[in-house]
Amino acid sequence: SLGQNVIVIVPGANLLLNFEDLKRASDVICKAKVVVCQLEITPAVSLEALKMARASGVKTLFNPAPALADLDPQFYTYSDIFCCNETEAEILTGIPVGNLEDAEKVGRMLLERGCKLVIVTLGAEGCMMISGDKPIPKHVPAGKVRAVDTTGAGDSFVGALAFYLAYYPKLSMEEMIRKSNCVASVSVLAPGTQSSYPYRKDLPQDLF
Ligand code: ADP
Repeated sequence: SLGQNVIVIVPGANLLLNFEDLKRASDVICKAKVVVCQLEITPAVSLEALKMARASGVKTLFNPAPALADLDPQFYTYSDIFCCNETEAEILTGIPVGNLEDAEKVGRMLLERGCKLVIVTLGAEGCMMISGDKPIPKHVPAGKVRAVDTTGAGDSFVGALAFYLAYYPKLSMEEMIRKSNCVASVSVLAPGTQSSYPYRKDLPQDLF
């Protein structure tokens, strides 16, 4: 139905990415500002990339998509930021996320598994964040927009967050999330995934 999405994944070349490839890229990984991993490549390879990043003090941002009920618990301990949507949160915790209270609950549960900060994206409601430093859940709302196609919104959010972590590391996490909500909310205004992502020049310039 309108504004809801269905996704077909054709892993293809993604599953060919292996430990040798990581070794070849180790210089880039270890000098990066932030490393983003998810689960469309072989999970063990993603986990190894997070470990390489962590060993070099590189910030790790992990998006458990597509979700696995039996996710290796090391994914939590090697994630500085663990960012999932409501569906993924439910698969990982067994708790359906229907409102902000549920989002707080799953956020707490995921945080206890060892990440430093959890973000649960909530579609039109924005995000719930909870950090180990100050484990009081914080709702960061998204702006009201007329959603046409939400496919790719999660990736748009994660990509924007990676951008802010790399280029504006001094912003507060709440501010980074607010800005990432804004970028992702623009991506739901047009059909498609990559095709719906705005160029920097087309975004409000106060995002930069
Ligand atoms: P996914 O695409 O993984 O299902 P979400 O639906 O939670 O992820 O969306 C990710 C982010 O995209 C949200 O946190 C929000 O910033 C933005 N977003 C998604 N849907 C809407 C919407 N209808 N209105 C405004 N922002 C949205």
